[in-house]
Amino acid sequence: MKHCDKCGTFYNDALGQCPKCFPAAEMLESAEDSAQKPTRQTLKKQWIAILVGIPAMILLYYIIIGLLKLVAS
Ligand SMILES: [Zn+2]
Repeated sequence: MKHCDKCGTFYNDALGQCPKCFPAAEMLESAEDSAQKPTRQTLKKQWIAILVGIPAMILLYYIIIGLLKLVAS
């Protein structure tokens, strides 16, 4: 249990915020906001993964071809 400094209400730790000072509607909105931010970050991460991943795949491809040529010769 946590104790709210503003209104003195005891509330569950899982809530994170006092349910009296932060009504459910506001909590849902803030939850949506926090849910949207990670998706943008994951999109950015996906782009970085693509931008880094494709050259890395090409490089790996050439390394494998080079190794195969070494083995063949
Ligand atoms: Zn409170």
